[in-house]
Parts: sequence; structure tokens; C-alpha cells
Amino acid sequence: MRLVILGPPGAGKGTQAEVLAASLNIPHISTGDLFRANISAGTQLGVEAKKYMDDGNLVPAEITIEMVRSRVAEADAAQGFILDGFPRSLEQADALTVILAELGESLTAVLSFEIAEDIVVERMLARGREDDTEEVIRNRMRVYDAETAPLLDYYGVQVKTIAGVGEVDEVQARVRAALGI
Ligand code: AMP
Repeated sequence: MRLVILGPPGAGKGTQAEVLAASLNIPHISTGDLFRANISAGTQLGVEAKKYMDDGNLVPAEITIEMVRSRVAEADAAQGFILDGFPRSLEQADALTVILAELGESLTAVLSFEIAEDIVVERMLARGREDDTEEVIRNRMRVYDAETAPLLDYYGVQVKTIAGVGEVDEVQARVRAALGI
């Protein structure tokens, strides 16, 4: 199964992706986690990405796309993967289409998590990440609306909408039902 997960920051994408990936035995590929791992390791990519992440802006496409291209080509992703946080723009979506075509693969489905903005802000302030100040959260939401939300039209009928409100297992049950598994 090859899935893309869309949804505004704080919609619970990461948690749901993690649970689903474990049960399907495929990798959960989060570009945010990959960037944070690079920041922790002090790599050049991490230093560059941090400049954008600190303000809630998108890391430049060329850096992000190459990182994803090499990650999805790794052996553990051969049987499938869940992409969380990528693509985040039309340019990235086009790049993903090309990357998958090069591997002779295509997406199984796109999940879109929907959730009210006040719940999102509450959740994000509670998790206390460094890029989770209120101002940065607001900017991330603006970036989502402007850059990422258009992907819902781009993917069209491939999109399965999931209500993101509720307990982790309730939402996971919706995900599985939407995927027919
Ligand atoms: P996330 O953990 O998905 O909330 O991502 C945290 C931050 O990493 C975002 O606010 C962006 O600065 C950066 N980031 C993650 N994924 C991408 C992406 N696909 N394109 C550009 N920037 C990204």
C-alpha cells in the first residue's frame, strides 16, 4: 500500500500514520521527522532546513524532493510506505508522480484528515515542539491553506476524507474503513 496523508498541522497525521504503518509493516516516512533527525545529527541539510522550519515555512523543494526520492527507494519501502508531510505543494506532488513512475509504482490512495482549527491549535500547543509557538503555528496553517490544500483537487477521486476528531483508535478505525482493510 502506498499512501499520502494530507491534513493541516496538528490534525493527527503523524500518530495515525505511525499506527497504520506498524500494522501494515511498511515504513512511516515523515519529512518533518527526517528534517528533525538531520537537525539533531547536525548535517548540512539539517542546518539549511532549520532556517525555514523555525518560521513554519516550507523547506525549499529541491532539498525536500531529493530527500524523499532517496528515502522511498530504500529497500524497506519496496512493498509500500506511508508518506506523512509530503507532498506539501503542487511542485512536490508532480515530483512524487515522477519518482513513483521511475520506480514503476503509483499511489494506492490519499488520506485527507479534516479537523476544526481550534482543536488543532489546542493540540499543537499541548505537544510543545520547538516550532509550535502560536505565531509559527498560525503561519504553518496559512502555508497549508495556500500551498498544500490545492493538492486535494490535484488528487481528486484518489482522496479519502477522514474526520480527525476523536480518540486515536476511533480515528484509526475510520482510516481502515476508508481503505477497506
Ligand atoms: P511537520 O513535522 O510535518 O509538521 O513538518 C515540520 C516542518 O518541516 C514544516 O513546518 C516545514 O518547515 C518542514 N517540512 C516538512 N515537510 C515538508 C515538505 N514536504 N516540504 C517543505 N517543508 C517541509
